[in-house]
Amino acid sequence: SDELDSNAREEKIFVAVRLRPLNEKEIAKNDLSDWECINKTTIIYKSNNQSDRPMYPNAFTFDRVYRYDSTTKQIYDEGVKTIALSVLNGINSSVFAYGQTSSGKTYTMSGITEFAIADIYDYINRHNDREFVMKFSAIEIYNECVKDLLSVDNTQLRLLDDPEKGTVVEKLTEANLRDCNHLKELIYMSEAERQIGETALNEMSSRSHQILRLTVESSALDFKGGDSGRSLSATVSFVDLAGSERASQTLAAGTRLKEGAHINRSLLTLGTVIRKLSKAGSGHVPYRNSKLTRILQNSLGGNARTAILCTVCPAHSHVEQSRNTLIFGSCAK
Ligand code: ADP
Ligand code: MG
Repeated sequence: SDELDSNAREEKIFVAVRLRPLNEKEIAKNDLSDWECINKTTIIYKSNNQSDRPMYPNAFTFDRVYRYDSTTKQIYDEGVKTIALSVLNGINSSVFAYGQTSSGKTYTMSGITEFAIADIYDYINRHNDREFVMKFSAIEIYNECVKDLLSVDNTQLRLLDDPEKGTVVEKLTEANLRDCNHLKELIYMSEAERQIGETALNEMSSRSHQILRLTVESSALDFKGGDSGRSLSATVSFVDLAGSERASQTLAAGTRLKEGAHINRSLLTLGTVIRKLSKAGSGHVPYRNSKLTRILQNSLGGNARTAILCTVCPAHSHVEQSRNTLIFGSCAK
């Protein structure tokens, strides 16, 4: 456990930015990149177009910034791994991908989830002195409706307040995992469930949040192989958020909050919660204002560890959204 204990002293929140490569369409339209990572932690705005207005601030600093040619493994190793694996020490954690639609959230999160799962099972297989029980759930939040992605039943699930556990999702499937392959099968299943209504897939994934939640319970075994009493339980959540364009079209312009097409209550509340948590003593944290933050309350703030991966489209045509994403990430620190 030494490799894990040394992580306990590390920072509670890791915020990174990842630029995806320009895609073929963007290159064909000469819609070139405005952004450059000038070192490991700073990204600057550097327009190719002489007539563009200058932008302030034009430099943003994070724990790490990743260029178009970085790999998901690199991002995982440098910041996410210690946060995700703290679940083995009984510490809750969450890993988020935040960014506009098509910036690379799903691409990044699916790789991160795969690496984390492999490491968690590797750790378990090397530690015979503890007995582990692994559980898995998959949740989608769409228009503030909560759906179980491990169930074919389409009904909306309710959130209940449990005096001990806090907010629980009523009737949510908690699958008992046999092994790593079983977990992979269930993730595959949850993806298939999410893709019902194929035509609207893009629209759907831009509006909905997906949470893959792994619970690790363990207890130390005594020399006879019995339970010696010291037990731990924690969850790690992998969260692929709705497209950030769902949060930003509104407040800046001073327009009225309107439910539905343009805004996403969960995304806005997440932003507020994270900003409040980043400033010690900034008062009431409005977890209860959205389904997403209620479900994740035990994985945000307190002892919990958080990684926020802000994904950015490099193209010039997306400069405003990219800037909003960088501002969101900056506020989280
Ligand atoms: P989002 O989930 O934010 O809407 P996706 O993850 O679906 O975006 O990414 C959009 C497209 O860009 C996909 O085809 C994906 O494979 C590709 N892509 C995203 N990030 C990268 C990357 N870092 N390297 C290569 N391709 C990427
Ligand atoms: Mg996606």
